[in-house]
Amino acid sequence: VIEKGKPDHSVITTCAYCGVGCGFKAEVKGGEVVRMTPWKDGQANHGHSCVKGRFAWEYAFHADRITKPMIREKITDPWKAVSWDEAIAYGAKRLKDVQEKYGRKSIGGISSSRCTNEEVYVVQKLVRTGFGNNNIDTCARVCHSPTGYGLNQTFGTSAGTQTFDSVMDADVILVIGANPTEAHPVFGSQMKRRLRQGARLIVIDPRVIDLVKTPHVAAELHLPLKPGTNVAMINALAHVILTEGLEDKAYIKERCEDQAFADWCAFIRDEKNSPEMAEQYTRVVAADVRAAARLYATGGGLDHKGNSAIYYGLGVTEHSQGSTAVMGLANLAMLTGNVGFSGVGVNPLRGQNNVQGSCDMGSFPHELPGYRPVGDEAVRGSFEKDWGLKLDPEPGLRIPGMFDEAVAGQYRGMYIQGEDVAQSDPNTAHVEAALRNLDCLIVQDLFLNETARFAHVFLPGTSFLEKDGTFTNAERRISMVNKVLEPVAGLDEWEITCRLSRAMGYDMHYDTSAEIMDEIARLTPTFAGVSFDKIKRQGSVQWPCNADAPDGTPIMHVDHFVRGKGHFVITEFVPTEEKVTRRFPLILTTGRILSQYNVGAQTRRTENNIWHEEDVLEIHQQDADDRGIRDGDWVNITSRMGETTLKARISDRMQPGVIFTTFHMPKSGANVVTTDNADWATDCPEYKVTAVEVRLTNHQ
Ligand code: SF4
Repeated sequence: VIEKGKPDHSVITTCAYCGVGCGFKAEVKGGEVVRMTPWKDGQANHGHSCVKGRFAWEYAFHADRITKPMIREKITDPWKAVSWDEAIAYGAKRLKDVQEKYGRKSIGGISSSRCTNEEVYVVQKLVRTGFGNNNIDTCARVCHSPTGYGLNQTFGTSAGTQTFDSVMDADVILVIGANPTEAHPVFGSQMKRRLRQGARLIVIDPRVIDLVKTPHVAAELHLPLKPGTNVAMINALAHVILTEGLEDKAYIKERCEDQAFADWCAFIRDEKNSPEMAEQYTRVVAADVRAAARLYATGGGLDHKGNSAIYYGLGVTEHSQGSTAVMGLANLAMLTGNVGFSGVGVNPLRGQNNVQGSCDMGSFPHELPGYRPVGDEAVRGSFEKDWGLKLDPEPGLRIPGMFDEAVAGQYRGMYIQGEDVAQSDPNTAHVEAALRNLDCLIVQDLFLNETARFAHVFLPGTSFLEKDGTFTNAERRISMVNKVLEPVAGLDEWEITCRLSRAMGYDMHYDTSAEIMDEIARLTPTFAGVSFDKIKRQGSVQWPCNADAPDGTPIMHVDHFVRGKGHFVITEFVPTEEKVTRRFPLILTTGRILSQYNVGAQTRRTENNIWHEEDVLEIHQQDADDRGIRDGDWVNITSRMGETTLKARISDRMQPGVIFTTFHMPKSGANVVTTDNADWATDCPEYKVTAVEVRLTNHQ
């Protein structure tokens, strides 16, 4: 802990990093934050924290913070600091000029999963009112959009089923495509506590993640599948459960749709879904798949069935079949009766602090707040009445569509809040070409990020220490973010958006962020009972929170699924189009490490920790030997999209043929090589599978 003296007061708030949503006490002395102490009453963390939340907050005071609005005519011009009024009037005029020339739908916005619910809500409202279209998307597009689609199709709502504490009632834990000890450390520790008590663990992941080997919690079964074959694996697990009669017949009969289940059974029983057939794709021996299926289905119980819980992350969603895999996991849980009580469920581990909230708040081109279709006249009507104008009934563009249309020349203006698409989105060359084509790009952020290189207006945003509002974590828990300091640039982030809206011609006005939440509650049935007062009184609220559940809902689908009966979906395995060839014989997969966070905008600017200063390429000894690569050598990685250079680390975490890196540093350019392939249902990019070649190079 950085000791800077005894604090004179403290403010309870919520961590701004991952989707665990830990509560913290920000301790302040003389107007300066002196330390962050995990809050013992935090309902997601119970007094625990990880290095990021506890130590990586000094970015809020980094010299790179931009504290004045800035404008420039061309992206080659130097920035000019101006007043808020001038910057907002300039940005609004440029956006209006674009619309005049290219039409109402030629502009749009991207909201941030790092911002509060209230800040996100006003951004989507600005696009729908001030811009007059539905070209609004969120960075959830590139991470958990398949979760929203898949869980909605099967269970009827786009959210995880459990509280984190529910893991303490699990007898078998199935972790697939997630690395909780690095990416969700506080929940990872809770999971390890349960494993030390005797719960049994199955890990399905191409890499040997920490949970596979950690003493006393090590996975009983590790299925190191080839990247891109999740659906084949999940279908094989279901095939074993069904053909061996391990399904929960009573649960299925009572809780699930008969016909959909019968159709699904006919599909899944087919020999093509057997572990032996799947082995040719997954490279995992059939006997291990059979053992994992039996363990999951029985919950490890011999005399009585135990509880089995599924936890998954971006290793499931960021694939061309991301949504299919999510539905496959939901099928598994329904098949074995593992939904609707503590210790079970299908639990997405959300990456960003408010990715759940940014989706809940209607940051999708086809959905208004609360996941209600923009095309539904009655739903639209309720917003029209409250907002006082007619809304566009046509869904707008998703993020990849925005870039495609920008390159094509018809989409010419964007407002991007707290999202560095030039570094985080795949196929960097395409993204940069799109951004370069815009006649007006407004970036609202803490720092001049990579995306801001293409901006005409820069509006300085607020760090979590300067916000008040709410974040919603991976367990649907809405927690308060309380202002510790005033915004360094003088304006609340939601007020910046309101001013832009007014300059665009739509009079959006609030006096406090609590008023915004009151509007969200008024217009969104699942939030109807939510208010700042209630959150403060209870410590947090898990949605749905309304007349049926006045205190909130820790566990969903208890007596029936939100959609009524659970819906089995046929999940045909379709191999990705990204094929290894003689020219590109290795598969690159990407992820995150404990001490860094996403594009590193915050963690790279925090000195009070031992930070990794570079992204490295993890490669198996055999692949390294084949190429004459030694540990620490610089290597060139080439894909069909582009090339980049990284330092090699020979790692026994990797399997032959699969390499791994992170994308925390702008200079590593991992996304220069990733492809345009995307989930068929949601366009979530296939970050996890890129065919590449690696060669020794002398250049850094
Ligand atoms: Fe923050 Fe996540 Fe770490 Fe908790 S686990 S302190 S929410 S980064």
